[in-house]
Amino acid sequence: MFPIKTFVSERRAANLLRQVRWRDGVYCPRCRAESVIRYGGYRVFQRYQCKNCDRTFNDQTATVFEHSAVALKKWFLAVYTYIRFNTSFRQLDVEIDVSYKTIYRRIQRFLRALDAPLPHLEGPVEIDELYVKAGLKGRERDQPSRSRGLSTRGRGTYEKDKPPVFILADRGTGERYVIPAKAADESTIRLLLADRHQESLTVYTDGFRAYEPLEEDDEFTREYVVHGDGEYVDGDVHVNTCESHGSLVRSWLSPHRGISKDKLTPYLRAFQLRREVFRKPGKEALETILETVL
Ligand SMILES: [Zn+2]
Repeated sequence: MFPIKTFVSERRAANLLRQVRWRDGVYCPRCRAESVIRYGGYRVFQRYQCKNCDRTFNDQTATVFEHSAVALKKWFLAVYTYIRFNTSFRQLDVEIDVSYKTIYRRIQRFLRALDAPLPHLEGPVEIDELYVKAGLKGRERDQPSRSRGLSTRGRGTYEKDKPPVFILADRGTGERYVIPAKAADESTIRLLLADRHQESLTVYTDGFRAYEPLEEDDEFTREYVVHGDGEYVDGDVHVNTCESHGSLVRSWLSPHRGISKDKLTPYLRAFQLRREVFRKPGKEALETILETVL
């Protein structure tokens, strides 16, 4: 089901771009007017002129794929294999014969166009965190000291280059959310749980202290298992869904060694997108991936 034809023909790639991008009709990227006319071509792309502001543009203008000397079909292959198979950018460098730096920049641009996950919680909700090793790649560090000092029971911190990543598993909707944070504290947790359908949301956690304030709050019913005491499941009370999802997150990040902490968010949005297209056949998956950024 690999949509191979799109990856070998620039014209097919351009047709797909046109079809997905203008799925709600052609409009001017500058003034948003819909009164546009066809105005010749630019390479394999259709060109248009806006009747409102007179500007001309083509199918690629103002998209994450514009201004590139690399063929569009190669970018489609790159984003498809990255989202689908988690291909590393070093591997792509070999496969599509484009330099690592060029691929890295373009994929970052693609990732920045992905939307943030917005949890609408129905509940009950499992919430848990994991800590990812992510420093400031190739840049000056926040703090030169690597002293462990006041360690918070083995939990990482953003400052120490081990930022927390929260995982929410909504058992009501079946949705999962993966959201990096600067701190694993009460205010962050409240923010993550803010958008909910029920007046009182049932929340399952582990014994981490940052979840304790939820207990004194009428808006939450917190139930928890204490892993340190060897307790992992107590009827419905567990965070096992979060934990297995967390191990998928770790393996998603692992081919991309040394992700800097300020880039963690886009990589995790890609993980979310990968989940959305997981069961879709190749062509449909590619269309969904493109729709997300166009
Ligand atoms: Zn215009």
